[in-house]
Amino acid sequence: MSVPGGAQRKVIVAKSAGFCFGVQRAVDTVYKLSEGEHEPVYTLGPIIHNEQVVADLAARGVSVLESAEDLAGVTRGTVVIRSHGVPKSVDDRLREMEAASEGKLRVVDATCPFVKKIHKIVYERSRAGAHIILCGDEKHPEVQGITGWCEGGATVISTPEEARIAASEARAKGETVCLAAQTTFHYTKFKDIVEIFREMGYNASDSAVNTICNATEERQTEARSLAKACDAMVVIGSASSSNTRKLYEIAAEECANTYYVQSVRDLDRTPLHTFRCVGITAGASTPRKIIEEVHEIMDNMEFDQMLEESFKTIRNGEVVEGTVIGVKEDEIALNIGYKADGIITKSEYSSQPIADLRTAVKEGDTLSAKVIKVNDGEGQVLLSRRRLNSERTSALLQEAFEQGTVLTAKVTNVVDGGLNVVVDDCRVFIPASLVSDVYEKDLTKFQDQEIEFRITEYNPRKRRVIGNRKQLLLERRKEKSDALMATLKEGDILDGVVKNVTEFGAFVDIGGVDGLLHVSEISWGRIENPKKLFKPGDTVRVFVKSINGTKIALSMKFEDQNPWYDAAERFAPGTIVTGRVARMTAFGAFVEIAKGVDALLHVSQISRNRVEQPSDVLSVGQEITAKIVDFNPEDHKISLSIKALTDNTAEEPAEEPAEAEAEEAKAESEEA
Ligand code: SF4
Repeated sequence: MSVPGGAQRKVIVAKSAGFCFGVQRAVDTVYKLSEGEHEPVYTLGPIIHNEQVVADLAARGVSVLESAEDLAGVTRGTVVIRSHGVPKSVDDRLREMEAASEGKLRVVDATCPFVKKIHKIVYERSRAGAHIILCGDEKHPEVQGITGWCEGGATVISTPEEARIAASEARAKGETVCLAAQTTFHYTKFKDIVEIFREMGYNASDSAVNTICNATEERQTEARSLAKACDAMVVIGSASSSNTRKLYEIAAEECANTYYVQSVRDLDRTPLHTFRCVGITAGASTPRKIIEEVHEIMDNMEFDQMLEESFKTIRNGEVVEGTVIGVKEDEIALNIGYKADGIITKSEYSSQPIADLRTAVKEGDTLSAKVIKVNDGEGQVLLSRRRLNSERTSALLQEAFEQGTVLTAKVTNVVDGGLNVVVDDCRVFIPASLVSDVYEKDLTKFQDQEIEFRITEYNPRKRRVIGNRKQLLLERRKEKSDALMATLKEGDILDGVVKNVTEFGAFVDIGGVDGLLHVSEISWGRIENPKKLFKPGDTVRVFVKSINGTKIALSMKFEDQNPWYDAAERFAPGTIVTGRVARMTAFGAFVEIAKGVDALLHVSQISRNRVEQPSDVLSVGQEITAKIVDFNPEDHKISLSIKALTDNTAEEPAEEPAEAEAEEAKAESEEA
């Protein structure tokens, strides 16, 4: 039969399958009698070990006498002796009944001629003084019939152990023995038993008679060779048939996929549809009709999808997909569409530690895995998800390394010298020096974080895979920097992040580019030290003061906050102001009268009395009140006088000596 995918399925029926000559003869005899005039028809025991045939004959009026005792009520009709034969005592009784019936009762002997021959042998040999040792099943009617022809009884054995005992007992008694066998006895076993007797001193040619039926031997030999050649074997026969059981044993020795069925109904219980080559044999009591039915069903079995899947073959190393059909703490069972289920143990599930597989997988999930061993010895397929993932990830990492692909993975642990991240069961190490584009003092903040990186070193032989996040950050920074520089212009107002602070100013990241915020550009007022104002990470609003190549100067001195903007009105000469001494020089004190506006209180204007040094009468931080006596908007210079508060003559600006102006200029330049 042609199957999907072009596969061809073969069904081979053994030539020797089914009724042997002896059984066929007996069955034909009874069927013939059931059609004749000699009703009623009886069989002494079921004519064969086949319920269907017996039921069919019963429907035709053939009754079964279960034992010789049942003969008591039979006075007319026909009694058929089946192929197994009967003991001599029963045979004698039947003959007597027939003779006494005056033609009303007829006995038809359908004993198989081969069995008849055994009766004759054991009868004659036992009468000649030999002790009959019969190899067979003592409960079988044929054996019971044969022993009934042995004068002085017989010993029935079936195993080598029993043979040794029987041989030694016979030897001890000095008996002559005659070894014979039930017609369906296993030929090899019989030879072994003969050998045991030979070892005990019995001459095989004198003491052993091979009474095994050729039909049985042929059937068994053919079953063995067929089982060797086929993927599966079907043995058809009745459960009570000993020769069928023996056929099954022989076939099973050669073919693990041997199935026993009584009829087509039992085929449903077998996976026979999954095999390409199926052999069929049948016990001696199996009617041809049943064999043909099984053959026909096998030939016409619907394969469709089931067959396609069932014919699936798998090999070690192959990747299979399956559905989870069971999960235990340490094992997962998968239906992989193969005749055996797949098993993934905990150690083969993941390279990451996992306490209980039930927390990771549930029934119905789909998993892919690699076949490690097609048959683990218990008929299961050992699978590994871990090895499959490892291989796939290795390929992914290699490709990522070669193509510079950006990967994302979670930091599983922070170790000395860097970070470990796991990409689909594969560990990647990122050294501390490659974690960031800035110095990272504490790497623990990356624990359990998803981070992006590139693979910059890949050496599977040394199991060394190095990740690099720094390179990625630098590249991105440059991209941003290039984009920003292409559009940045003087006057642009930006929010930046302080990256570093020094005494001369702060470096501010304005979006991929760093600019310098000089101390003089931090405020309109005086700044002693930028470190007192800023720390790295602070956000500041700045504007671009100038761009010189890649150097960007930033400023926080926004014009709308310029204290000199309305100074002419607020600090007109004659205005009395209050401020604090900001610093002092030899020629006077600078007083902050508004944020970002310092005015000079010349030493000569401090008091009506002579003052040698401003520090003789004033101190830094001291609050004073004074009158503005001069305002120079161009140079941003304002002169104060305390003396003018009490002396009108002092309202004229004091003449500043030349060295005082020079010192002031020097002081201002130092501030800048
Ligand atoms: S198996 Fe052999 S001995 Fe037995 S009935 Fe069939 S032909 Fe006769």
